[in-house]
Amino acid sequence: MTTSALAGQHNVRFEQLAEELGAIARLFGSRGWTPATSSNFSVRLDGDHCAVTISGRDKTRLTADDLLLVNLTGEPINAPPGARPSAEAGLHLALYRRDPDIGAVLHTHAPNSVLTTRARPDARTIRLQGYELLKAFAGVTRHDIALDIPVIDNSQDIDALAAAADERLDAQDGICWTYLIRDHGVYAWGPDLASTLRHLEALDYLLGIELELARLGHRT
Ligand SMILES: [Zn+2]
Repeated sequence: MTTSALAGQHNVRFEQLAEELGAIARLFGSRGWTPATSSNFSVRLDGDHCAVTISGRDKTRLTADDLLLVNLTGEPINAPPGARPSAEAGLHLALYRRDPDIGAVLHTHAPNSVLTTRARPDARTIRLQGYELLKAFAGVTRHDIALDIPVIDNSQDIDALAAAADERLDAQDGICWTYLIRDHGVYAWGPDLASTLRHLEALDYLLGIELELARLGHRT
């Protein structure tokens, strides 16, 4: 298939995706998760391509023109002049490459994710244990388990960051749908957009509880 035919085939899907992602961006914006055009979103379109948000755009007014069709190595397909994926698209693509069942990736700079890694500068993982809401993560069916969330040190070298994330996920034992980047934010993924949103919301809620417990002087 030619690149323009491929792009044409995805046009209708882009309109629909722009609406769905725009609604998510407005929700995140109302929660203060995406300050100053930070955050980026992506959705897998097929085995080799995904739609990623274009760098620097206001995601709360997302249209199909704010989405870019790229292959899984990040090359734009039929992109308008000057359009480039978000700088951090490399992290989204690394996730899609490692698991063909990942259908969507959402990244935000939600305060609870930044606060958690700032408050615990030596933590390599954040353990969440015993919460009923752990069942919001796909594959978790009981509250009385522990979920370890990897924490990766921040870097401006996206390839190095992607390699570090891959290494941590390879070593991960058990269910993992999110990781934190220290002093930066959170990545969440899932089989589709709805489950990815659920994972992100559940993580933020649980990190909020852990932070509040720490404020109250409870050891977590
Ligand atoms: Zn970021």
